[in-house]
Amino acid sequence: MEPFKIKSVEAIPFTTREEREAALEEAGYNVFGLPARLITIDLLTDSGTSAMSDQQWAALMTGDESYAGSRDYFTFEKTIQRITGYRHVIPTHQGRMAENLLFTVLVNDGDRVPNNIHFDTTRANVEHNGGVAVNCVIDEAYDPAADVEFKGNMDLAKLDAVYADVGRERIPLVMLTITNNSGGGQPVSLENARQVSAWCREHHIPFIYDACRFAENAYFNKVRSGLEHSVAEISRRFFELADGCTMSAKKDGLVNIGGFLALNHDDLTTKLTNMLILIEGFPTYGGLAGRDLAAIARGLDEVLDERYLEHRIGQVQAFGEALRSAGIPIVVPVGGHAVYLDARRFLSHIPQEEFPAQALTCALYAEGGIRGVEIGGLMFAADGNWPELELVRLAVPRRVYTKSHLDYVVDVCRRLHAERDRLRGLRLTYEAPVLRHFTARLEPIAA
Ligand SMILES: *Cc1c(COP(=O)(O)O)cnc(C)c1O
Repeated sequence: MEPFKIKSVEAIPFTTREEREAALEEAGYNVFGLPARLITIDLLTDSGTSAMSDQQWAALMTGDESYAGSRDYFTFEKTIQRITGYRHVIPTHQGRMAENLLFTVLVNDGDRVPNNIHFDTTRANVEHNGGVAVNCVIDEAYDPAADVEFKGNMDLAKLDAVYADVGRERIPLVMLTITNNSGGGQPVSLENARQVSAWCREHHIPFIYDACRFAENAYFNKVRSGLEHSVAEISRRFFELADGCTMSAKKDGLVNIGGFLALNHDDLTTKLTNMLILIEGFPTYGGLAGRDLAAIARGLDEVLDERYLEHRIGQVQAFGEALRSAGIPIVVPVGGHAVYLDARRFLSHIPQEEFPAQALTCALYAEGGIRGVEIGGLMFAADGNWPELELVRLAVPRRVYTKSHLDYVVDVCRRLHAERDRLRGLRLTYEAPVLRHFTARLEPIAA
């Protein structure tokens, strides 16, 4: 059961099928164009969509808004030092600013930055600085049916290959994303992090986590490896293997906005801080209000509560299991923050050129007012190259929806699956030159 009770509620919108069909048409069959007031269950993302606790809301009311030396900065700093063990803490307004600062300082033209799989903002920030983002995840990560416990692990042989190709001088850092968001929220094992750490130390290359879901990752390690330590201890063991981390507090910080960099290196911190002052803010607020720092500090402690994590991970697993037992094709194993429908198998009669995952995303909205997001050809096809996978991600916001909300989603999926033959593909009518999925317009292909 939920390890919390609810003392503030927000009504959710209900709509008619006619309203939803009209809204879809107006949005060009792109759910990014739908107004939230017409969405009943919003599973677009788990980022910045968490419900805050009473304690976090209380912290907002007592925020210290001093420009320099805010009391809440020191609480924020101390909490992050305790959780990560890193000496220096730099607040940012969200995760991508932490990436922007780090790569601006570290990455030069032609550098390679390995990661298990780069999240899209991470890749974009590497490339913006002239670097090449290289994915080095194990091969199984690309097989939606490979039921592997730590499907986010790095393949050390792929790291060796990057090294053999360009050498130490062209690898300014190695990143490891925990959990591996773009690979389905799959965990990385402590053992794998140890290997990556040893590799980086051997080659004298800095090792930095993209730690957005560090607590979910540590919880998976506790359960799947049968570790006896607390999740907080397991997190510490991860952090002590690396030189620092970037973080979007919109995930495991349990807040609606915020992020940070934490690291040990003194000279690097000085460079990052100088850049921070130029583009983000003074080092004791870094683009956030004092009250936001207070809410993040509180959220980072709440996210390590094992009853919370048991419910959180358990809720997503049970959601996936319910879909699977209804015969609906999903990616396995189920990751930490989302369930992914496999649209290639769900809509096997729709060819990839007709965007099956986008067609399924639209059908979920038309049928039940549910918003997921396409991760397939619309997002990734470029220059005639189509991605391997056609997925619909159903991300679960933290502490927001109950079991009955997700049961409803399962019901809608089941209904659609029973009538899948009637669903049709889509064709593009407009696309932007980059990141087209956000603004693309489409139309249904007539039967
Ligand atoms: C969300 C996310 C980011 C970027 O953080 P923002 O707060 O959205 O800027 C980076 N990496 C991963 C793995 C993420 O999930």
